[in-house]
Amino acid sequence: MTKELPANPTFSVVVPVFNEEAGVKDFHEKLLLPELERLGLDFEIVYVNDGSRDNTLSIITRIGREDPRVRVVALSRNFGKEIATTAGIHMARGEATVIMDGDGQHPPAMLAEFIEKWRNGAQVVVGIRTKNENEGLVKRWGSKIFYSLFNATSGATLVPRSTDYRLIDREVREAFIEFPERQRITRALIDWLGFDRSYVEFDSPARLAGEASYSVRQLTRLAINSYISLSLKPLYFFGWVGAAITLLSFIVGIFVFVEQFLMGDPLGLKFTGAALLGVFVAFLVGIVLISQAMVAAYMAHIYEQTQGRPLFTVNRPRSVNL
Ligand code: UDP
Ligand code: MG
Repeated sequence: MTKELPANPTFSVVVPVFNEEAGVKDFHEKLLLPELERLGLDFEIVYVNDGSRDNTLSIITRIGREDPRVRVVALSRNFGKEIATTAGIHMARGEATVIMDGDGQHPPAMLAEFIEKWRNGAQVVVGIRTKNENEGLVKRWGSKIFYSLFNATSGATLVPRSTDYRLIDREVREAFIEFPERQRITRALIDWLGFDRSYVEFDSPARLAGEASYSVRQLTRLAINSYISLSLKPLYFFGWVGAAITLLSFIVGIFVFVEQFLMGDPLGLKFTGAALLGVFVAFLVGIVLISQAMVAAYMAHIYEQTQGRPLFTVNRPRSVNL
């Protein structure tokens, strides 16, 4: 049987899946498909199998064989969700692309709202998770701390609780797939691009089945990567600390020298040579911090250059009117 692909569908749903054999069939048949059919628009579903080590691939392949609207992309190994999502976005052909987890935690029932916002002109629609009850204390507090720290110190803004459940217009998708960088956070890149955005709030239910595959360690790495891919502030922060130490120890050093050794200790403070030495060491530590920040600043420029992001992206008028 040859598979007839529909001409460019109105929208694509990209779903990265990794070891989801226990839930993906239900996700597809009970949650996603009924919702898409209710919407009554042309659609395609792109499942990206991220090197699952269970039966996920054969399950989605079977679904794809019977339904021409379902395409399956099988990655050769586990590349991680960010890359799997990127692969799916590359393959998507719709006028809009929705990115969604395959474990039911991004409820397809919200799709109508995403599409509605898009039809009203939004080019990026971001899902905001209102409840987070299924996650452990560590993840919940970790996420809170990350957002407050990030927004207070990075100079960039992330909307708290914004998720990867997103819709991007074709325009945004075309800009997105131009990004050549390797260390990539889908969310951060979409945020970097700008465009007109809207938000949809949703409650995240528990996983359909199985366990979340992101460990606390991976989430910590994700948080650090998000931070450094969006902000250079921490770099400069330590440079400023160094500058403060250098200045302070310089002043204290002059004071000790003049008071004790030039004027013969009129205040009776009894400084010894050790005090002078201590101050001198602090002074050097400050210098080292400053020079480190400077080296890092050069590296940041090189890093930015190698990321090879476009200098700017242009927002052209909408190509289709629905
Ligand atoms: N996922 C993936 N590759 C991975 C890990 C996860 O494609 O290496 C998929 C997973 O199948 C699910 C989505 O990414 O569809 C979110 O993963 P998970 O539920 O484990 O994370 P969380 O709910 O904690 O965000
Ligand atoms: Mg999940």
